[in-house]
Amino acid sequence: AGHAPRAGRGMQPIPGVKRIIAVASGKGGVGKSTVACNLAVALARLGLAVGVLDADLFGPSMPKLFGLSARPEVSPDGQKLVPLEAYGVKVMSIGFLVDEGAAVVWRGPMVMSALTQLLREVAWGDLDVLVVDMPPGTGDTQLTMAQAVPLSGAVIVSTPQDLALIDARRGIAMFKQVQVPLIGVVENMSYFLCPHCGARTDVFSHGGARREAETLGVPFLGEVPLDIAIRTNSDEGRPIVATLADSAHAGAFLEIARRV
Ligand code: ADP
Repeated sequence: AGHAPRAGRGMQPIPGVKRIIAVASGKGGVGKSTVACNLAVALARLGLAVGVLDADLFGPSMPKLFGLSARPEVSPDGQKLVPLEAYGVKVMSIGFLVDEGAAVVWRGPMVMSALTQLLREVAWGDLDVLVVDMPPGTGDTQLTMAQAVPLSGAVIVSTPQDLALIDARRGIAMFKQVQVPLIGVVENMSYFLCPHCGARTDVFSHGGARREAETLGVPFLGEVPLDIAIRTNSDEGRPIVATLADSAHAGAFLEIARRV
């Protein structure tokens, strides 16, 4: 804890929201959204008021990860959308507003205005932390988004694999470029635990993200194993931090949440 909200980059803070944390990755499929979801639930379990903004406009995952599908209601004053709520976390996603499977084909300015609306025209209320699930990659859109949201800091998710780490390094460079503090790196799919025999296998090797974090002088926040229970619970819209609350996996996410 302790990363103060940033000001002075020409961006207004969101009234009532103390910290905004981006969860990002250099490439897709490394478990960024899974980590964002479970980190948010873990922060709520630690007693914080938490929201999640799904900024992955072209591939929103939060509706599924939180098991939410309703349409958000409009606030009584008619000004804002009311976020949905699950596992003690307020959630807003473009996925609540467009039909699943419908392709979102937008130009840059539309992306920006959609993101601004999801950020500012939502009745977040008082939040200690707003977790933003960023789109994967470090292209133009991601850079623009990183600049559009008044971020307090960024968490980078990577697998231990060299290729993912190269991309993670780009992600770190991107946030440095826009002067967003790096909160740290999470190694996801860090090792595989066999559900049958309990043996551990380093599928994508192991420890690469920790070493990379050390090399770059960025805090290492923790490792999450590759485990089928994380995948199956995610698919069913039940974040493992909430549903297997006493598991080692939940413990790993709580540990990461304490360091964020
Ligand atoms: P990203 O947001 O980086 O594209 P996702 O969070 O959508 O990645 O994860 C990609 C897939 O990998 C999903 O099916 C998810 O359930 C699975 N997954 C993510 N992390 C783990 C893990 N630690 N163990 C098992 N499966 C995982």
